[in-house]
Amino acid sequence: MRIWVNGELREAEQAEVNVLDHGLTVGDGVFETVKALDGRAFALRRHLDRLERSAAGLGLPAPKRETVELACAEALAANPMPLGRLRITYTGGIAPLGSDRGDAEPTLVVAVSPAPVRAGAAAVVTVPWTRNERGALTGLKTTSYGENVVALARAHAQGASEAIFANTKGELCEGTGSNVFVVVGGKVLTPPLASGCLAGITRELVLEWTGAEEAELPYEVLRTADEVFLTGTLRDVQGVSRVDDREIAGAPGPVTAGVAEVFARRAAEDLEP
Ligand code: PMP
Repeated sequence: MRIWVNGELREAEQAEVNVLDHGLTVGDGVFETVKALDGRAFALRRHLDRLERSAAGLGLPAPKRETVELACAEALAANPMPLGRLRITYTGGIAPLGSDRGDAEPTLVVAVSPAPVRAGAAAVVTVPWTRNERGALTGLKTTSYGENVVALARAHAQGASEAIFANTKGELCEGTGSNVFVVVGGKVLTPPLASGCLAGITRELVLEWTGAEEAELPYEVLRTADEVFLTGTLRDVQGVSRVDDREIAGAPGPVTAGVAEVFARRAAEDLEP
């Protein structure tokens, strides 16, 4: 694997950033995970738009679009594979210890590795921790993923593959690396961005390409919804077969299967050259 680091492609063992990088010392960074099919990045423009929004939200200097595009193209060309996970990381750079990054030059890293295959429906768990829908980082894809690491570990400890958060108002929010949808009375619903969830690109495409709608939903809808599914870059549309001790028979259900089918068809048409 060769990794693009600040303008150079390096073998993974030599792909280094400084130990004083603000991304490492205080989690001052933003990132994107992009799906790459045979070296072609899916929905790259939307991902770069979100990277720029996240960087602006964190007060990082705006990443140069041409530089990030070039880095992605070079990293993809250097690491050919059928299904890749393109990871863009953009951090505060070498800065003094402490929260102020000063005028440090940002660090840009782009890596490509084989994408994990997520087959079949997912078991999920609820968690006692909440997403803060009014936090300084809400909606930004920053590298401060500790909460997600902890919640995902809890899911794994309970034999599940994803954990779903409520927000501080007790509303349904999102997973540790996914957005969540429910099917209620034939309607396909997902929490609005005001719930504190990430503006997931797969979520956005499902809203654009299907009749799914945004709605404020109680966390408990996970116990009563006819169907539940997750969306995310590396899972596309994935049915949920269990929520805690609730089994959802026949997952993915017919509505989820319909959404997944539309998504797969439209995504194949939209794949950027
Ligand atoms: N929420 C969180 C917290 C995530 O990390 C992700 C994965 N990027 C998502 C939602 C889904 O977003 P996307 O469809 O852009 O992968």
